[in-house]
Amino acid sequence: MKDFLPVSINDMKARGWDEPDFVYVIGDAYVDHSSFGPAIISRVLESRGYRVAIIAQPDFRDEKSVQVFPRPRLGFLVSAGNMDSMVNHYTVNKKPRHEDAYTPGGVAGKRPDYATIVYCNLIKKSFKNCPVIIGGIEASLRRLAHYDYWSDKMKRSILLDSGADLLIYGMGELAIVEIADALNSGMNVSDITYVAGTVYKARDISGVEGGIVLPDFDSLLEDKLQYARSFYTQYQNTDYHTAKPLIEQYGQSRYIVQNPPMRPLTTQEFDDVYELPYMNTYHPMYEKDGGVPAIKEIKFSLTSNRGCFGGCSFCALTFHQGRIVQVRSHESLKKEAVAMTEEPDFKGYIHDVGGPTADFRAPACAKQLEKGVCPNRQCLFPDVCKNVKADHSDYISLLRELRAIPKVKKVFVRSGVRFDYVMADKNDEAFIRELCKYHISGQLRVAPEHICPSVLKMMGKPDNSVYQAFCKKFDAVNKSLNMDQYVVPYLMSSHPGSTLKDAVALAEYVRDLGYMPEQVQDFYPTPSTISTVMYYTGVDPRTMEKVYVPKSAHEKAMQRALIQYREPSNYELVKEALLKADRADLIGFDKTKCLIPPRKIEYHKPEGKDKAKDKAKDKTKDKTKDRAKAKDGAKNKAGDKDKSLRNAQKPLGRKSGQGKRDTKSGRRAR
Ligand code: SF4
Repeated sequence: MKDFLPVSINDMKARGWDEPDFVYVIGDAYVDHSSFGPAIISRVLESRGYRVAIIAQPDFRDEKSVQVFPRPRLGFLVSAGNMDSMVNHYTVNKKPRHEDAYTPGGVAGKRPDYATIVYCNLIKKSFKNCPVIIGGIEASLRRLAHYDYWSDKMKRSILLDSGADLLIYGMGELAIVEIADALNSGMNVSDITYVAGTVYKARDISGVEGGIVLPDFDSLLEDKLQYARSFYTQYQNTDYHTAKPLIEQYGQSRYIVQNPPMRPLTTQEFDDVYELPYMNTYHPMYEKDGGVPAIKEIKFSLTSNRGCFGGCSFCALTFHQGRIVQVRSHESLKKEAVAMTEEPDFKGYIHDVGGPTADFRAPACAKQLEKGVCPNRQCLFPDVCKNVKADHSDYISLLRELRAIPKVKKVFVRSGVRFDYVMADKNDEAFIRELCKYHISGQLRVAPEHICPSVLKMMGKPDNSVYQAFCKKFDAVNKSLNMDQYVVPYLMSSHPGSTLKDAVALAEYVRDLGYMPEQVQDFYPTPSTISTVMYYTGVDPRTMEKVYVPKSAHEKAMQRALIQYREPSNYELVKEALLKADRADLIGFDKTKCLIPPRKIEYHKPEGKDKAKDKAKDKTKDKTKDRAKAKDGAKNKAGDKDKSLRNAQKPLGRKSGQGKRDTKSGRRAR
């Protein structure tokens, strides 16, 4: 019978275990669903006969919280969770988030900052010499020295800062089994230096064959450009066919060695992993807190692929999963969909069928399966490579088969669709038609991100003309279907390369759209992306050419405000940005051209049923003022006069400086 893995000593005893083989410490709540990395890794180990116990979100202030189980026979596994803990905790403005979808009840603060490091330190204090293996997105993207946006510093490999013994990067199913087998055979963890997709510590690198020596950590601290060079070498070594071991030196004789990536899973292996006996929900112990919010989006979604050859500069997917797309079979996906329909809370809707990119159902080209992906060229950028085989027929038939399953009312596609890949397909219209007719509801979200060629070049995104051609086709198809649906663009502000003038150009584009897009994201320098390296170093690591980087909080606020220029609270920022960009021509009353009027229009509450109330309030205010004046008496007469004059000059809701300007010019604030 299917059951959750043990979360307590009683659960463990009920299974007749004296000790677990592995204890898995996780920063997220325990959700046994294939969308959660720790669920996959623990079920893979279980399928190989290993006993895994779970400690989810231990109290990081108390080392006893990792002592729930006896010392594990083979070691601890640690993951910060499905997201980097810092991205999970903070907004792009470094303000704490108030919610956490991966925690029971959605409350924030149940995991520490830099969770991997904190958990490892707790474990090392309590269980000396017990092997600790780290993985998950946080460990993967911080596997070598990296820029950390939140501390605004270069940080060492997380393997050193955490004190863990071994790090698995990328998707770890094959690596964890090799490691478990090695430990089970009695091998010392420090001798496990040969597993693909892992990073280890070394004092001697003479045995590392064909390794590339990266700039050492001290030189990264001294010279940002060295980091740009180092990162690009790492980026070019993410393909399992061609990648070399990478060596990074710390001090005189300490090294971090990154083995080449693990090979992609075959379709059969991918199916097998997703058909393990997951409970497909959160542990019942969270029921009292209202459950784990993240389950809502994923419970009725299907993962159909992995890997991405999209190559957007601000995305870490290439660095984590690689560019080679791996897919699950139709049979496996249908089996999972049928099982979903049996769930009591299934309402007939499959929320998504996708992965990093929804419509990638095959590797970009045949060549890469034998020789690897091109290290110096992207598959879709700057143009679609002539070797790309753009074909949506398999995805179309998969969607058709899924929506034919009894009890399925609708199958949505919510993962991102690559419009440039769609347009590269000779049968692009067939896919757009299928998508519009059956798989969206009113709108399709796609990600052009910007419109200026210079910014798109930095982002690794296609020219705006490709997006326009896609929109045209989308509209034509909807017209022929007699459907009223539209494309909603995701836009990004303040990406490296974006000047204030570029942001104004984007605002003009938004003006011509006729509505204000809600999906605006400030560029967020998350670990180990090309864009983050640009942000930190000021150069594009692909060319080492200088890049303009909007860094000050004020400029970033202006760039964002420009995209949402219709928001009344953005008026001052937009006005300042337009003047700075020498675009005062966009301040005026011509609504077809101008972004804002010369003055903000003040809101005047119409006189109505609240009139009496307002008058009463005013009277009370006046009385209070009078009482205060009388109390202060004559001693501050002059001062009071000045203050009341200033207040009279200050229009509602404006800063005093602005009020003065308005008064001087003699015009009423509007
Ligand atoms: S040949 Fe083209 S499609 Fe194939 S890996 Fe290279 S860039 Fe990508």
